Amino acid sequence: MTSIQATNLACKIVLLGDGGVGKTSLRKKYFGEGFEATYQMTIGADFAAKRIKIEGWHITANVWDLAGQMRFKVMRETYYRGASGALLVFDITRPETFLEMNNWVEELIKNSNDELVPITLIGNKSDLRETSDFPVSHEDAVKYTRELSEYYKIDVQYVESSALTGENVKKAFEVLIVDIFNTFQANRDSID
Ligand code: GDP
Ligand code: MG
Repeated sequence: MTSIQATNLACKIVLLGDGGVGKTSLRKKYFGEGFEATYQMTIGADFAAKRIKIEGWHITANVWDLAGQMRFKVMRETYYRGASGALLVFDITRPETFLEMNNWVEELIKNSNDELVPITLIGNKSDLRETSDFPVSHEDAVKYTRELSEYYKIDVQYVESSALTGENVKKAFEVLIVDIFNTFQANRDSID
């Protein structure tokens, strides 16, 4: 996280998860209906910024969203560079996207100087839970966040969202932003 002024902070949030899980839909929902991609980066990622206020601080959340597959290592490094936190997204109706979460965490670590940034786990498409044959259970997702928390010594929360209905979309981003903010504050305190 970069400190711009005493009460201003900018953070970079990366959206991770397999194709089709709803990363772009979540990002669009969070930024509102009128959202237009601020620019299409040549590296194949969309980027959008939003300001929120926490405890009197103005936080600018820069959200990066993979546009399609990034096949080249150098592009992935650009995507991850300087990330302050990650939203790990899977589709609750497709358990295979949940099983991929470990690979995304590994890639995040590999690209962030081996120091893990705050993570929030998102089970998206909650509106399809009732009609899905074998959805990922809430218990399994929470169990996984506990494993991540214990293994990496960070606090990982689980939020179940629907980019379609809007349920918990704001919460998904803001749980992570608060976590990033608290981590920043804790590091700052240890320096002071
Ligand atoms: P991405 O590849 O991760 O960026 O996924 P997209 O945002 O492009 O979404 C993939 C497909 O899933 C699209 O057809 C979306 O309309 C659909 N989708 C995304 N989120 C939801 C959701 O919460 N509920 C439902 N029912 N469909 C969703
Ligand atoms: Mg997308």
